[in-house]
Amino acid sequence: MSEVLALYGGPKAVQADPGDIFDWPIITQEDRDAVMDVLERRAMSGTEVTVEFEKEFAAWQGTRYALGFSTGTAALQAAMYGCGVGVGDEIICQSLTYWASCLQVYSLGGTVVFAEVDPDSLCLDPADVGKRISDRTKAIMCVHYMGYPTDMDAILEIARPRGIKVIEDVSHAQGALYKGKKVGTFGDVAAMSLMSGKSLAIGEAGILATDNLEIYERALSLGHYERFNDSIQTPYLREALGLPQGGYKYRMHQMSSAMGRVQLKYYDERCAEIQKAMNYFWDLLEGVPGIKAHRPPKDSGSTMGGWYAAHGLYRPEELGGLSVTRFCQAVSAEGCAISPGANMPLHSHPLFNTVDVYGHGKPTRIAHSDRDVRQPQGSLPVTELMPSRCYSIPWFKHYRPEIIEQHAAAFRKVAENYERLLPDDPGNPEGLGGWHFFRHR
Ligand SMILES: *Cc1c(COP(=O)(O)O)cnc(C)c1O
Repeated sequence: MSEVLALYGGPKAVQADPGDIFDWPIITQEDRDAVMDVLERRAMSGTEVTVEFEKEFAAWQGTRYALGFSTGTAALQAAMYGCGVGVGDEIICQSLTYWASCLQVYSLGGTVVFAEVDPDSLCLDPADVGKRISDRTKAIMCVHYMGYPTDMDAILEIARPRGIKVIEDVSHAQGALYKGKKVGTFGDVAAMSLMSGKSLAIGEAGILATDNLEIYERALSLGHYERFNDSIQTPYLREALGLPQGGYKYRMHQMSSAMGRVQLKYYDERCAEIQKAMNYFWDLLEGVPGIKAHRPPKDSGSTMGGWYAAHGLYRPEELGGLSVTRFCQAVSAEGCAISPGANMPLHSHPLFNTVDVYGHGKPTRIAHSDRDVRQPQGSLPVTELMPSRCYSIPWFKHYRPEIIEQHAAAFRKVAENYERLLPDDPGNPEGLGGWHFFRHR
């Protein structure tokens, strides 16, 4: 079908007023009341609301313990510490992720070894993980990237016989299922962000979940000094109760915990509507050249949870080599604002190559290593290719077919008229990626 692209003066594919379809989180009077109660009781720094939230979260997640944190960054650091990651230890993580999946390992004296992602799931490629194991590997960090569940069976098959701990970074995937079971329950411990942009959004906060008492108590010991008390059962941890082992203060702000209790109550119901809306969007685009859904196969029992930071996969070879940058310009001009790229891969950043953060006299990445684990540009070819093969898609929070159909029509129109875009294609810029899609209203 030949239509004039909006980029060249044609009518926009998206005409409908989006209303509140993109607004998130959904805030009702119940959230306001819960937060105001904490404020008026001047209970911001207490723990009683947080403890209630933790109990409810643990029941929802399906783990014995849950522990609230000030941020997801802190919760993930505590998960690493909980697993015993320390001086000279390595964790394996994907490079295509937000920095807080791994960077905190430096503060524990450890380092990170990056593994490739699978180009369809954008999560750890288990076969590549297997090749990165060394006698220093302490943990594998599984990021359920942009909502897609990591292939946990394959990861556990590698980790279990070797006694390697498995941590899940669930920041993008709260409530997602892997083969019918919630992510966050497969590894030794899960930790995640609950900050305002995430699908379970409660302010600035993080949470850790585990069935393992020792991991829970170690995680608590790092930065929850007022709860690091006589209740601790792990014998060796009882030596120094009362002060935080890490010298951190990681307590969750109770206005967040209060909001969390309300958000959690409605989360599954809201996610179900998001899933219906997002799956409808992709169903409409099934078979369109150049674009491919980033979602698990329908009969797999796996789901995308709340579809945080939803992205699509791009196949430039099906569109005459059209760059994803030009493709996104054209879709955006149709009234559907999207951005090219995904996260910038971490491994080429100076912080993972040259920077001496703590004055070790050598780069922090290898401060305690007996070999050079650094990975120069070019060493992770699949990962490095991914930003040029991804683009953000609209994150629909409600199933409103007409609006969703118009957004899908924008993608279809551009894909079907790609030839018109080839002559003016500027190509992709250097260092495509980042968090362009994350915007405050
Ligand atoms: C947001 C995020 C974090 C960090 O959480 P904060 O709450 O922002 O500290 C960690 N990992 C991933 C994958 C994230 O997206």
